[in-house]
This record gives sequence, C-alpha cells and structure tokens, in this order.
Amino acid sequence: MRTDSSFVDEIHEILEAPRYTDVIDALRPNSTFVLDVSTPALTDVFIEAGGDFVKFLKRAIYRVIREKRGSDYDSETNYRNLKIEISGVSTIEMHDVNVRDYENKTVCFDCIVIAADAPKSYVKKGKVVCQLCGNSEDVSCDVNREIPQLKCDTPSCQKSIMKVNTENLVTDDIQTLLLQEPMEKAKNNSPVILTGKILGSNVGTVFVGQRKRVTGIFRTVVQARQIEHEIVLEAASLEDLEETNFIKPDESALAKIKNFAEKDPVEYKKSIINSFAPHIFGYGSIKESILLSLLGGVKTDKKRGDIHILMVGDPSMAKSEILKSAKKVTQKSIYTSGKGSSAAGLTIGMVKLSDGRQVAQAGVIPLCSGGFAFIDEFDKMNKDDRSGLHEAMEQQTVSIAKAGTKMTLPAETTILAAANPTHGKYDTSQSLGDNLDVPPALLSRFDLTWLFIDRIHRDEDRAKAKHIINSFTNNSETNNVFLTELELTSILNYARTIKPIITDNVVDKILKLYEKLRDMCRDEEMTKLPVGTRQLEAIIRMSLAHAKLFFRNRVIEEDLVAVENLLKSSLDTFGLDLSKGNFNQAFLDGIKTKDTKEQIALTVWYNVADENGNVKVDTFIKELSNADKFDQNSANRVFTDWEKNIIIKRNPDGSYRKT
Ligand SMILES: [Zn+2]
Repeated sequence: MRTDSSFVDEIHEILEAPRYTDVIDALRPNSTFVLDVSTPALTDVFIEAGGDFVKFLKRAIYRVIREKRGSDYDSETNYRNLKIEISGVSTIEMHDVNVRDYENKTVCFDCIVIAADAPKSYVKKGKVVCQLCGNSEDVSCDVNREIPQLKCDTPSCQKSIMKVNTENLVTDDIQTLLLQEPMEKAKNNSPVILTGKILGSNVGTVFVGQRKRVTGIFRTVVQARQIEHEIVLEAASLEDLEETNFIKPDESALAKIKNFAEKDPVEYKKSIINSFAPHIFGYGSIKESILLSLLGGVKTDKKRGDIHILMVGDPSMAKSEILKSAKKVTQKSIYTSGKGSSAAGLTIGMVKLSDGRQVAQAGVIPLCSGGFAFIDEFDKMNKDDRSGLHEAMEQQTVSIAKAGTKMTLPAETTILAAANPTHGKYDTSQSLGDNLDVPPALLSRFDLTWLFIDRIHRDEDRAKAKHIINSFTNNSETNNVFLTELELTSILNYARTIKPIITDNVVDKILKLYEKLRDMCRDEEMTKLPVGTRQLEAIIRMSLAHAKLFFRNRVIEEDLVAVENLLKSSLDTFGLDLSKGNFNQAFLDGIKTKDTKEQIALTVWYNVADENGNVKVDTFIKELSNADKFDQNSANRVFTDWEKNIIIKRNPDGSYRKT
C-alpha cells in the first residue's frame, strides 16, 4: 500500500514546475489555490489519492513555501487558512455528462449506487522476466491499469514475451460500480447509468442503494482492436449525500390550511382532492384514495405503513394520467412501466458489466425505498418481478440469490399500479382474476382496487366535455385550484411525517367495519371465503392516512366513515354493493369465477399466510373447511397432497411455507 508521504512527494514534484511555483509564491495566507487536476500527471495521483487528495496537496504546497522561505518557516500555521479549489469540478447533472465536453475532465455529480461488483485487485508495479534468459525489467501499469507486454531484446530469445513475476508485486484494490442518476433529476423518467471505478481505500466502502456525490475523471477506456470504447468514471471521492431534500410548506400558509381543515372539513377535503390532477375530471374517490396512499399509514415493527393501490380498466382511461399526476406531487418517486425501465426490472436482477461479468442491480422499487413507485402496465411485468414483488409489497425487501450473488435490499416503497385487462376490455361478469394476468396472491397485496370502466353516462360526459373546454380557457376552474402542484407536494411532505395513533374509542368502529366486510362474505353463496386480516390492516392504514390528511395526531370516527365510503366506492366500481351483502373478497383477490378447488385452496393459503408467507396448519385447514366446495376431510386431503408433492414445506417451528 502506498504511503501518504509518497503521495505528497509526487504532488510536490509536479508543483515544482514554474507555472505552479509562481502561483504559490503569490499566495496570501487566506488565499484559494485553484488547481486543475485534469492534466495527465495530476489526473493519476488525483484518482489514486481519492478522498485524501486535498490533504496531500496542502502538505505539498506547505513544503514548496517552506523551501522558498527557509526550513524553519512554519507554513502550516501561517497558511492554515489556505483554501483549495479543484477546478472544473462544479456539480453537474448526470444527463449532462458527455464525452464531447468532459473527456478526461474532472466531473462531480449526484447519483445512486445501483450495483457493486466484488472488490478486485490490479497490479500497479512489478517486474517482467524473460522465461528464456532470465532478463528482467521493471514495469508499471498504464492508465487503463494494464501491464504492458514487453518482449525480450536478447537476440537469441527472438522477442519472447516477458512474463510478470508474481513476487514483489505492488497491487491495489479496485471495484466496479454502476451509478445511476437520482430519480428526481432524470429526464423523461430515464435515469442515466454510468460505470464507475473506485480504487484504494474507497474499495469496499460503497454499497448498493447509497446516494453519493461523486467526484472523478470521466474518460474513455481505449481498448485495442475495438472501435467502440467503454466510458468510465474514475471516482476519486464519494461523499454521502443527504436524503432527498423534501420541500416544506411555508409556516403561515400551513397555518391557514390547518385552520381551513379544522373549520370546514368538507370544503377543505373537496379543495385538496380537486388540487390533485385538476385536469382530470371526476374520479373524486379515486383521487382521495391516491392522496391517502401518498400520505401512508404508520409503519410498525411488524407491519408496513405503505398503502398500495391498484387501478384496473380499459386502456385509454385516466389511469396513466393519475399515476403521472401522483409523480408530480411526490419527490422520491418514479413513474415506470411494468416492463421496467432497466435491465434489473422492477425489483432486482442480474446485469452484465461491459467485460461480461454479472452483478446484481437494484431495480426501481428498492431505489425508491422510502418513496413511491408508480407502475403503469402492471400486468406486463416479467416472471422474476412477479415473484419479487410479492416480497417487496409485504416484507418490504427485495432479494436475489443467483450466480453466486446473494443480496437483500430494503424496499419500503409504496406501489401505485395500473393494469389493463388481458382481453382488451374488462368483462364485469367475470372476476378480477379472470380479467387480469396477475397472480391472485399479488392482487391481495393491494389495500384498495379500483375498476375504471367506460360506462356511458350522458350527464357525466357533458360535464367532462365542459371541463376539458374550460381547461383551454383562461379563467377555467382548473387554473384556479386551491393548491398548486408545488404547494400540494409540500403539504403532503409535511402531513406524511405526522404519526397519528389509534385510541380505544375508535377500536370498536374499526372492528365494526371489518366485521361488516366479514359478514358479507359469510352471506355469500358462491364462494365462502374469509376476509383476511389483510383487509383489517388496510382499514387501519387508510384511517391513519385520513387522519394525516387533516393534520390530526389520532384517528377519529370521521376517518373511519371516510374509509368506509372509499371501500364502498371501490366495490361499487366492480358492481359490488357493501350494503347489500353480496360482497365477495375472493372476487377481488382475483380468484376465478370458474375456479377449481385447487385455486380456492391456494387463495385460502395466501389469505392465512403471515407476513413471511408462513402458515399454521390448523388455521389453514379450519378456514379451508369453511370455504365453498370443501369440508374437513377434503381440506385435510389438500394439505397432505401438497405436502407429499412438496408444494409446501415444513418450517422448523412447525408452520408451513410454499416452496
Ligand atoms: Zn530473454
């Protein structure tokens, strides 16, 4: 490993050139010394010294001053206020980095580390030896860290290629990273990705998911016998970046809004809902639920606080527009397609580096951890994401175990998704599962599901048309919203941080609403399936979010009334009526109308599974015995069948999990 003083020596040597000594001579004790590190000699040492470069540079300058003024001159003390500025290193956006302007120049930008290869080493210095005559020569690696291939010049050796002697090598650490532009800065939702190399003491200190401000040299790696070359950033320093700087509401504006919410809750709620996606007509309940999702419930040690919402319906309805509007009022978020915008997909995947090696790359969901993923065409996601999302939406992690790589990343990400029916048009006589190519177990992870159908309503059409015409005129209602996009963003940011509690006086109300759902399922004749505790959790999360919407620190009865209304409206879009008692959770959980017993049993399994996917045998058999087409015997038979065929496996604690 290279010593500090050898770095100082090397910089000192460079600074002895007149163009630097002249500048140093003219320095006053509190001056700023500006150094352009993009000259070849400095580039190498700048990269190699990494985060310590400025420290070494100062020591080299002190030495130059001392040499000028005499060896007992205390330049360290006299020039302690000396400032260093590395020139050309103002922060830029990643999408502005290009070879035309920045080849071999120092750049600085903010990014997220999306993949990190295992640390490797490279040879900096060594000896090459001729295998025939023993002739040896000292060599150092070139700028691409390759050891030049030397040929022996002893005539009798006939230009035999000299080999690197494995003894007395000087090596250093190196690691390859994939750096991605932060979501909030990406153009067209397409964040730029660059390959980064880190060296020396920086190796092993950088992890996937971290946000960093990176300073380094941007350059092309010229490879022999190739026309197109890889571009890399040789990172010299990586500073931790603060989490997203969330904008906050202005104190007096906030006070006014709080006052409005308290004095006239009905009008306040209408105003705030209308401020969201004002260009989209109607959809009041849907907009309200989206706002609740953007506020979230309260996370506990065991349960997620995120409220996931799914919108299903015919193409060309307002679904995508609503997702894009949600993107506009959130800061740490991305709008993406189910197909995913990167090779890693939505969750996590293996990607190839330019040299063919594979590394695990984080997808958009873990990268938006603590924020939101707005996923359009949810039905189009790939097979890996289908299984990955299961874990992401409930356990709030994503993991991969492939090609020798094992990685788990946090994914506390709220998911708002839109999906199109498999056969183009939604068939209301069929269940959600019949209409949508998404596994039932995944559908049951959503707290609320909405169906968008192009029903013909003359009056509504008229009002909608009027709304559109208005949006083209100046004094339209859409231009005259209660809160602007930016104001709504700041209010949501603020309200999200409130942590309301559930007090004893509303516990009864919550249970009542939950029982209402359960009772309806019991009355259901077609498929008697239990409303799982998942629905209870959803009710709790939404009531907490509704309390946040009103800046309250506890849930009150009105919050439960609002949640019940949302549930009613959501069921209503499916033609189901909460008050009539023909509600069937299985219908929403995606079980198919013509379902086989196997599928019914599977749905029951997922409904009784805990957050880790584990199921207690007794609970499963009891619930399945109560389901349509089943009794105690047939339920037992399903269980033994599954165990025999290793569809399920026993855990050490006696519970079971799906294989
Ligand atoms: Zn030789």
